[in-house]
Amino acid sequence: MLDYKGAIHIHTKHSDGSGSIHGIAQIANQAELDYLIITDHNRCHARFYEGWSGKTLVLIGQEVSPPGNHLIVMGCNRTIFPRRGDPQGLINEIKKEGGLSFIAHPHNRPHPLLFLGNHSWRNWDVNGYTGLELWSYMADWVEKATPLNLFSYLRHPDQAITGPNIKTLEKWDELLRQKKVPVIGSLDAHAKPFLFREVFPYRQLLKTIRTHILLPDPFESDVSLARQAVYEALANGHAYIANDSLADASGFLFEAESAGKRAIMGDSLDQPPAQVSVSSPHEAKLKLIKEGAIVKEVEGRSLQAEVFEKEAYRVEAYYQGRPWVFTNPIYVGR
Ligand SMILES: [Zn+2]
Ligand SMILES: [Zn+2]
Repeated sequence: MLDYKGAIHIHTKHSDGSGSIHGIAQIANQAELDYLIITDHNRCHARFYEGWSGKTLVLIGQEVSPPGNHLIVMGCNRTIFPRRGDPQGLINEIKKEGGLSFIAHPHNRPHPLLFLGNHSWRNWDVNGYTGLELWSYMADWVEKATPLNLFSYLRHPDQAITGPNIKTLEKWDELLRQKKVPVIGSLDAHAKPFLFREVFPYRQLLKTIRTHILLPDPFESDVSLARQAVYEALANGHAYIANDSLADASGFLFEAESAGKRAIMGDSLDQPPAQVSVSSPHEAKLKLIKEGAIVKEVEGRSLQAEVFEKEAYRVEAYYQGRPWVFTNPIYVGR
């Protein structure tokens, strides 16, 4: 499989970000990203801006943002307008348009000091959405910023980045007991001025939390075919999230085999037992997890295990003690 890394959930001048799509796309190409997904608030301008910026595929999604209940939407060619108090109606509309919907920053704490309200997801009884934004750079930063560390974290924002929100991880594990729930990582990048200087510049954020997708073939040069490959991989969970500012995780792989059938993250296998294996491009603490509990933990570049239960198995990796990689699950017997 080919490992293509990209950045998701970027705001531009078309909503409340500070950069142009062209400028951000150039930064993405310099950062050697394979794809970039722009998501302005309540606005989709895919027809005008999708294409290649050097080697980076630039795609235009949108963040549908009613009060609370924000959704990252991909694959729709028109603006989907927010519906106040009707998240299920919104999800249904996106599905009807053939789009993907990921619940954005599911547990985003309000921060009065930064003038941020509560944009957490409120209606967990919905169905038909594609998945969750598991690890959001800005939601992680806001969660960790306190009046005491605020100025230090504004100067060195990456220091606050210490993993997905624990409530989101628990919610995900709970949802995985019932259904497949693919996850993505995101930036929620705005690069806005704060106290007379630019904070969270695109140049810095694009090096941090990426969603790596696994593809069987290289990108086609045709934009619509390459776009389809990215969205299929994200929808199927053929992807993992990594904080590449710690170490580039390209080449990280979680796979399993049962009765001669092979699966990668996002796939299902019919029956246990299954042989699972993890390989990492760097030394790390590798944890195999089911239902939120550790099944096996090793320090190194590979992990092998045999699993016997009908469960969703996923992997977390910690690089020099810091949260680094979160994979989509392999669904054994599910
Ligand atoms: Zn939002
Ligand atoms: Zn956003």
